[in-house]
Amino acid sequence: MDQTKARSNESVVCPECGQPTTPRQLGEWGHCRKCRTADSRAVQPLRW
Ligand SMILES: [Zn+2]
Repeated sequence: MDQTKARSNESVVCPECGQPTTPRQLGEWGHCRKCRTADSRAVQPLRW
């Protein structure tokens, strides 16, 4: 699961924020990890 660094020469750009990310993340989530985190936070905020 930690091959993202080994494949860092394969770079794509997140369509949402324009940051470079991995094809794997785009394939799985449709955007980069940062956007996914922000997205899931918006959907499921911390349970206060
Ligand atoms: Zn992004």
